[in-house]
Amino acid sequence: MFRGNIRVGAVLGIPLEFNLSWLITLALFTFLLGDQVYPDVLRDEPAWFSWLLAAVSGIFFFASIIIHELAHSLIARRSGIPVRAITLFMLGGVSQITREARRPLVEFVMAIVGPLTSIALAGVFLGLAYAPGLRDNRTGVMWEWLFLMNLSLGIVNMAPGFPLDGGRVLRAALWGITGNYRQATRWASLCGRGLGYALIAGGFLVLLRVVPWLDPFSGIWLILVGFFLDNAARQSWAHTRLLEELRTRPASSIMQTVLPRVAPEVDLLQAMSRYYHPRDGMCAFVVDGDEHVLGMVTDVQLARVPRDRWPSVPVGAAMQPADEIATTTSGADLASVLEEMDGSQQTQLPVLEDGRLTGWVSRARLTGLFVPQPQVATSA
Ligand SMILES: [Zn+2]
Repeated sequence: MFRGNIRVGAVLGIPLEFNLSWLITLALFTFLLGDQVYPDVLRDEPAWFSWLLAAVSGIFFFASIIIHELAHSLIARRSGIPVRAITLFMLGGVSQITREARRPLVEFVMAIVGPLTSIALAGVFLGLAYAPGLRDNRTGVMWEWLFLMNLSLGIVNMAPGFPLDGGRVLRAALWGITGNYRQATRWASLCGRGLGYALIAGGFLVLLRVVPWLDPFSGIWLILVGFFLDNAARQSWAHTRLLEELRTRPASSIMQTVLPRVAPEVDLLQAMSRYYHPRDGMCAFVVDGDEHVLGMVTDVQLARVPRDRWPSVPVGAAMQPADEIATTTSGADLASVLEEMDGSQQTQLPVLEDGRLTGWVSRARLTGLFVPQPQVATSA
């Protein structure tokens, strides 16, 4: 679902991405509004005006989703949880957070702030719809539509199925009451799966015109959201179990002890030919005479230097310096190693004892056990 993301910039320091599937939704909304909803209301206006208003509505609506996700992301960041990106895709947006909250209250606030933001936005749009001067204006119908969409976004996301916002609120509550994170996640995920199946069943009923007042087409949407939710709930539960398993194992159990060490004056080409590995990619640690790590060279640093200059650039000049590298220790558990990799976006971590290199862990070694990182989901 998240392949083919296009990064378009950043909001308040949080990268913003669009999945190509998002274009389907944008086209669909513009078409429905421009071809059907607005011409019905704006009978005296030319067709181009309905289309223009539809396009502007689409932009405002997706800005609303970004603001909803931004609310989740800002609380996450304030609570010390790094946010990798906000991603818009066919069914809405997700905040890609790199680890789960450590306390129920943080989870609760991080989850509920999204729907509350949508409801506040609905209030703003309702205000605009009824503002003197705008009320009888040709744009009034757009503000009303935006009010309804944001209100639905706030309400639908409070459905108590994990990993929807409401499911996260449910988990935080169960977790706070019982003190058992695992059981809270299990129950909230089961509610998420139940909700997913209910949506799929409801979608088929709509599709078969059992519910005559709903457009059969919206049945397809319900089925898609249902499948997405069931899948997301299963993955979230699998991720929780995986992290639990990883918490019982130390980094030393998978770390590689053949050390890719290189002196700072060695050139990039030489380092590459010695330490490039098809599975793990490039990984070399630049060390001084005392085995202290000065920096690290990976695919990222290689890509920054044009290939024809590799023989003349020393690794010491191209490396990521030690104070910017995330590191771990041999006794750290694998869940924290994974979180450290997600937070720093490094695919390799050096294992240090007293500043000296004793091993390294690559993401590829963890991939056999790896499932997607947690996401705060919104479906629209
Ligand atoms: Zn949300």
